[in-house]
Amino acid sequence: MFINERTKPHDLLYYEALAARTSLTKVESRKFSTYKNGFEGEQMYDQLFDSIGHDNILIYRDVFLSVDNSVTQYDSLIISDKGIISNEIKNFTGSCTVRNGNWFRGDYPIPNNAFSQLNRAVGKLMELRNTAKADFNVSGKLVFPNDTFIFHSDDQSNWDKMILRSGLRDYFQQFNQTGIKAGNKAQYISRLISEHIVENTYFNPQIDKTRLKFGLYCGHCGSFNLNKTRFHLTCNKCGSVEYNETHLLRAMSDYKFLFYNQSMTRNDLLKFIDNDLHHKVISRALLKHCYINSKGRNTTYTFKYYDFDDAVRKSDVYMRYKDHN
Ligand SMILES: [Zn+2]
Repeated sequence: MFINERTKPHDLLYYEALAARTSLTKVESRKFSTYKNGFEGEQMYDQLFDSIGHDNILIYRDVFLSVDNSVTQYDSLIISDKGIISNEIKNFTGSCTVRNGNWFRGDYPIPNNAFSQLNRAVGKLMELRNTAKADFNVSGKLVFPNDTFIFHSDDQSNWDKMILRSGLRDYFQQFNQTGIKAGNKAQYISRLISEHIVENTYFNPQIDKTRLKFGLYCGHCGSFNLNKTRFHLTCNKCGSVEYNETHLLRAMSDYKFLFYNQSMTRNDLLKFIDNDLHHKVISRALLKHCYINSKGRNTTYTFKYYDFDDAVRKSDVYMRYKDHN
């Protein structure tokens, strides 16, 4: 069973918010599509795993583990009484060849450290096990969930470390076999893992505020050209209608990822939305959807939810009002 939700990674949310408010540089566009592509691969992996079933095992998704003062990210950790397996998910497409340890697309060498990344991640899990003086198996596989990916290798041992889309169903199926279960030992491993989970420490965006377009934008088409009525904003470009609160949740989520770990006052948010809504509306939304930190005369607000999607799922906004597309 999946222990935690797979949320969009911080970097993807950052680039989504950035792309909505400025034109991306070439480097940024490339990074944005890499993160988007990676997340899509992880969703393919989850969907297939779901369709096959995973009741006998415990699965952590997209977690950061701190082991011996260094932090490593894991796409998927599969735990049973037999031990723990790290799955490094790579949404590669097209044809790749590995010759003498180097990766090529056609005849062009491409930088890739997928195997060393996997080895490092598995090594860290072994370190975790050894430090805890525990006894369980640790292994890992590179998983390529995209069926358009074709792999050639002169080194037979590479194949043992990877699962292509054509073999993924069988790979998942083995966790459904009798004899695989999440009993005491799996519970122990799971506890050990959860004790080492930390926040993503690598995410530290530095954004030049002057590049950003402030204001509210349509959730459907991205246009900043909105028409205000009492409770709603209507997009003048595509006609989509969204409740004021929806817009504010989106703005607070954007703010969180663009100015990560920076405090947000009511004025900051007002400026960020270019005063598109009345300050009383902002105050109400802040009280409802944020934790309040009062320090002297300075009150700052911390968004209660992980991101906009999480807010939409958890908030009761949508029980009372419906947005129209
Ligand atoms: Zn629109």
